[in-house]
Amino acid sequence: MSQCKIVILGCGGVGKSALTIEFVHKRFVTTYDPTIEDAYRKQIEVDKKPYVLEIFDTAGQEEFTSISDCTIRCGDGFVIVYSKADRDSFTSVKSHFDRIHRIKDTNTKIPIILVENKADLNLKSAVDPNEGEQLSKELGCSFLKTSAKLEYNVEKTFVSLVKEISSL
Ligand code: GDP
Ligand code: MG
Repeated sequence: MSQCKIVILGCGGVGKSALTIEFVHKRFVTTYDPTIEDAYRKQIEVDKKPYVLEIFDTAGQEEFTSISDCTIRCGDGFVIVYSKADRDSFTSVKSHFDRIHRIKDTNTKIPIILVENKADLNLKSAVDPNEGEQLSKELGCSFLKTSAKLEYNVEKTFVSLVKEISSL
């Protein structure tokens, strides 16, 4: 069975843990515990093939989280999350992207999906509707809008990433 190591990156409070736990346990976590840092395992089937996903949810408030270079080096695929309610989290996407590339140091394409989370929020967004898509094109990665709360595109995020990883 194929194994995929997936690393979730992004600023504090954007919903990394919520997305991970929603995907793994189908449960929305309403409380915010910035210190949660854990690895999760989940078996899924993608295109009729079984995969074991090992998902590394990282903690930390700043863009440079406590996640080690080693975890990034071992990652097969990455989810960079920002929140549509938090401009700074969008601004720091590039630094996560650059860090992955610096550490992986490879010429082959690295599977990365950019995710704009909290799609359910009806506030005046801190990020314009097209900015995420635009940035993903500049970076050459895929893009999805998600809501951990409404379980919107959560499964799809992981499935798309696994497809990308397995197509390498
Ligand atoms: P992390 O620091 O990136 O792991 O952020 P968390 O997953 O702990 O989420 C931070 C806060 O945002 C928590 O109170 C979550 O309940 C909330 N949250 C996460 N995802 C969503 C979402 O899709 N919609 C809404 N409305 N809130 C969310
Ligand atoms: Mg967290």
